[in-house]
Parts: sequence; structure tokens; C-alpha cells
Amino acid sequence: MIKENILKIRERIYSACLKNNADPGRVILVAVAKNRSMSQVAQALVAGISDIGENKVQEALLKYADFSSRASQVRWHMVGHLQTNKVKEAVKIFDLIHSVDSLRLAQEIDKQAARINKVQDILIEVKTSPEESKFGLKPEEAIEVIREALKLSNISIKGLMTIAPPADSPEGSRLYFRMLRELKDKINASRLPGQELEILSMGMTDDFETAIEEGSNMVRIGRAIFGG
Ligand SMILES: *Cc1c(COP(=O)(O)O)cnc(C)c1O
Repeated sequence: MIKENILKIRERIYSACLKNNADPGRVILVAVAKNRSMSQVAQALVAGISDIGENKVQEALLKYADFSSRASQVRWHMVGHLQTNKVKEAVKIFDLIHSVDSLRLAQEIDKQAARINKVQDILIEVKTSPEESKFGLKPEEAIEVIREALKLSNISIKGLMTIAPPADSPEGSRLYFRMLRELKDKINASRLPGQELEILSMGMTDDFETAIEEGSNMVRIGRAIFGG
């Protein structure tokens, strides 16, 4: 079942890319495995998944302990809100932290990564909808945080992430995805030092095709893979 689901999603990613003249090989499929069992994760890995997303450090640590020796090529993604007191553990296992939503968190990641001689790849989480309850920085705040965070030597800012607010249809999310892509273009066009932002982490089960049409190159999918 998980294998069939993944095949179907890959087909849909492919079609969305063709429609958008994008290279399907450049869209990374992150299987979001929060609340899923070891056996479900194993099935996804067998079906060719190489990127696993989690939203809690504690749960990720357990899965990492189980899989890292057997599946060393797997990349681990932190997609959920990260508390500063969990950063020390998080930097030990995650290849990419998607949810950096304050300078304070970026500084703590830099500090803890330095202690283990790592340069931690991160994304800046942006709140593209005005809805106040969501995590993430407002676009103008994101630019400020990036400007400051670029001075830190043990983090590397790879791109931006957003969670679109719940919509009645995928079309309803298009505006938010477009906003994130335009923000990335704007930041890359400005003369901030450091490397270009490349990653746009956007699109989930209900809206990933729209996200790809708007330039996403990293989709985070849970339900469409694991069910529920
Ligand atoms: C759970 C989660 C996902 C996956 O959502 P689905 O709707 O199950 O595809 C993606 N991103 C984040 C941040 C999540 O918490």
C-alpha cells in the first residue's frame, strides 16, 4: 500500500513538473513519518524514499537510532516547531531543519552545531498567511533574520519553508506558495552575502501539485503516503 502510494505521488510530481516545465529530478519528496511506526518507515525506505521528515525530536531520535546504521543514505528532516532546549539533540541527527523561525533559534543551532563540528543546514520558516497562530516569520522579518543569521558560521541557510493555511481547494494555497517563491527571488536578487537560497520547501498532501507549479522543489507528504 505504502509502495503504491509513493509510486502514485511520484507520477503526480512528474506531471506537475511537466506542466510547469520543471525538472522532476529536482523535486525532493520528503516522507513525513510523524506518528508512524518503524514498520511503516521501513516500508517507505524499501519503496525508495530517501528523505524522512519528523516533527518531534524525541520521536525522530528513536527512529534514527533504529535506521541510521542500516539506512545510512537516508536524510532526516525536522519539519515541526523546534524548541531551543531540543536543539542540542536535533543537530546530532537532522540533515535539514525546516522550521527556523527566530534569530534566537538560529543562534542556538549555530552554537550546538559548533560543539559537534557541524555546519547545520537550515531553512527559514515563513508565515505567508496573516493568520497569527501559525509559527513562522513574516516575510520582512525573515529578511532581517537571514541578514543576521548569515554571520553565523555553523549554520548554512539553504532556503525557505512555509505551511499554507487550510484551504477548501489546492487552488486556494497558490497565493501563499507564490508569495514564498517571490520572497526567495527577492532575497537572492538583493546583495546579501553567502550562497543563494535554493530550496523552497512547500506543498503537502492536499496541495503539493500547486506548490510545484509555483516553484516548490521540496514537498513534505504524510497522509498521501502513509494513509489517514
Ligand atoms: C504533518 C506535516 C506534513 C505532512 O502533512 P500531510 O498533510 O499529512 O501530507 C508536512 N509538513 C509539516 C510541517 C507537517 O507537520
